[in-house]
Amino acid sequence: MKFSLTLLSTISCASAFSVLKGSKAPSSSQLLMAGRQPIMAGNWKMNPATEDEATALAKGLTTLMGDETCPMDEENDSCTEVVIFPPHPFLSNVKSVVEEAGITTGSQSVFFEDKGAYTGSVSISMVKSVGCEYVLCGHSERRTLFNDDDDAINRKVLKVLESGLKPILCIGETKEEYDLNIKNEVCAMQLAKDLVGVTKERMEDVVIAYEPVWAIGTGLVCESKDANAVHGYLRTVLAGLYDDEVAQATRIQYGGSVTPDSVDELMSQPEIDGCLVGGASLDAEKFGRIINFVKV
Ligand code: PEP
Repeated sequence: MKFSLTLLSTISCASAFSVLKGSKAPSSSQLLMAGRQPIMAGNWKMNPATEDEATALAKGLTTLMGDETCPMDEENDSCTEVVIFPPHPFLSNVKSVVEEAGITTGSQSVFFEDKGAYTGSVSISMVKSVGCEYVLCGHSERRTLFNDDDDAINRKVLKVLESGLKPILCIGETKEEYDLNIKNEVCAMQLAKDLVGVTKERMEDVVIAYEPVWAIGTGLVCESKDANAVHGYLRTVLAGLYDDEVAQATRIQYGGSVTPDSVDELMSQPEIDGCLVGGASLDAEKFGRIINFVKV
């Protein structure tokens, strides 16, 4: 409790809350017109152990692309975009295996500096040079295990956009914050802080991933209706920070223990545009079922 209250008391982003005052729920016609392209992403984290295993997993995925999946293609933006995030040493090889099938690759993280004495870090130009199109920013494991704070995440988001790549910005509340019923406030604050300096025009390339921390890697999936409600709320925050157009156009993924059993219901929710998948993305068949979700 102490942590969360301290957290809230340090919010310097009055905008995160003031934006909510004037915002209103989108009308159904706005939602219909939004036409957001579904996006499914697989975060392999620090797996698998060897390049051979990574290649085998990547090859398995290429056979599982279905009629509804596709590469980013402006002429067909109703099909599902599929992105995978292998560990950095495997990026080049995995890309060469999956690109023909239309699967995009991304980087699990980058450091916001361009180059220099930053042992163990990876720069944006490095991941761009091996064909990455997306970069995960603000994943809860980076926030907690590697001390990425909102300022560092914001610098990362700006660096990614400046380089022409696209950030998937992960936000979400901890179990403690969930129990205190402050999940909306926590997510609003993270959005406001992590998007400082991102223009309306640049928002076109930003994907948000709502990932309740208590659901990541725990097997606990947020109820689809609850996740949908948070996504709807995030749109009101975006409307306040930008406008209704950005709020309706921005793609928002859900992440947290998504499996073949939960994906269809999640993807049937009107505000959920895709999933960010950890554990289940390491099993080609499971991830194949997830990317070929069926709306119920
Ligand atoms: C994640 O890593 O972002 C994630 C959601 O993991 P998992 O699907 O294993 O919960």
